[in-house]
Amino acid sequence: MQIKTSNFGIINNLKVQLFTLINKNNVEVKITNYGGIITSINTPDINNNSKNIILGFDSLDAYTSKDYLASYPYFGAIIGRVANRISNGKFELDAKQYSVAKNNDNNHLHGGLIGFDRVIWDAKSFKAVDKVGVILSYLSVDGEEGYPGNLKVKVEYSLNNENELSINYFAETNAATPINLTQHSYFNLGDEATIKNHYLQLNCDKYTEIDSELIPTGNMISVKHTPYDFNKIKRIGNGFKSLKDGYDTNFDLNNDKGVLIKAGELYEPTSKRLLEVFTTEAGIQVYSGGSIPKLKIDGEDKFGKFSGVALETQHFPDALHHPNFQSIILNPGEKYQQQTIYKFSVVEKSI
Ligand code: BGC
Repeated sequence: MQIKTSNFGIINNLKVQLFTLINKNNVEVKITNYGGIITSINTPDINNNSKNIILGFDSLDAYTSKDYLASYPYFGAIIGRVANRISNGKFELDAKQYSVAKNNDNNHLHGGLIGFDRVIWDAKSFKAVDKVGVILSYLSVDGEEGYPGNLKVKVEYSLNNENELSINYFAETNAATPINLTQHSYFNLGDEATIKNHYLQLNCDKYTEIDSELIPTGNMISVKHTPYDFNKIKRIGNGFKSLKDGYDTNFDLNNDKGVLIKAGELYEPTSKRLLEVFTTEAGIQVYSGGSIPKLKIDGEDKFGKFSGVALETQHFPDALHHPNFQSIILNPGEKYQQQTIYKFSVVEKSI
């Protein structure tokens, strides 16, 4: 296994780095300390041809360009302090009212105007016996984006020879704060422009009902006899007949204890690439990229609607307003710790 470090560019006079993690099976993961973004993951297909299976760019300028930020899809980034939506951009904690940016209709999305996806993290690469990786650290100060408490966050990305990309999140605070971190990579395991012909399986019996602004009502709905039933592996595009913008849904992983469980898997039958997702999280937001913009990169049209699917393990959206959802409050003296593993392989699956 190898880890290489190179320069990725400069933002606000700060050097941004790119880390390349490579294992013995030629799985290669590139991560930058700008936003903790995974810029590419190359894995072999059934014919041993490698290609990048996530949406991303190979230059820092592309991530900061006006065009990209205008309809910003958060390609590959770490999301925080609170991933997903906070209704009305307001919450109450210990009898105090807090306001955070309304950057999505009337609601707060993905940590605000400058979330963890757009800051520069301190970075340190490492090599252990069984893995290589990078540890990213960031101090989110009291009041940043309206959140209380100095929050020390650490994210460890590592790759091993079992083709597991492990993301370990840690945090501590000096005042009570909400926290819900996730990783926002969009996968496209094949050579087609969309993920309609990908197959998805999820170990989920319920999903969160949402209103027209994608805010949970608090009700959990059974997936039975709905397009949300992925207990048996199913072509994602089948659901697009009734859901014209596709999926943007939090599924209940039934994981109250926060142990590492298998959330599900994504399969592309031509390349035969399989992605398995394991997590300690309580939910998984499946976003099939209904609003991913078409972008012109080097004169070429790229990305666009349904060009990738994000499998975002996290606590439930708007948990701050729903006492029946697991709490996302971290108190001083407590340790926030979560893990998600994306595991890559090539298999012949009967679908
Ligand atoms: C959310 C979508 C949102 C997207 C932004 C996803 O995590 O679920 O509603 O549009 O992020 O890229």
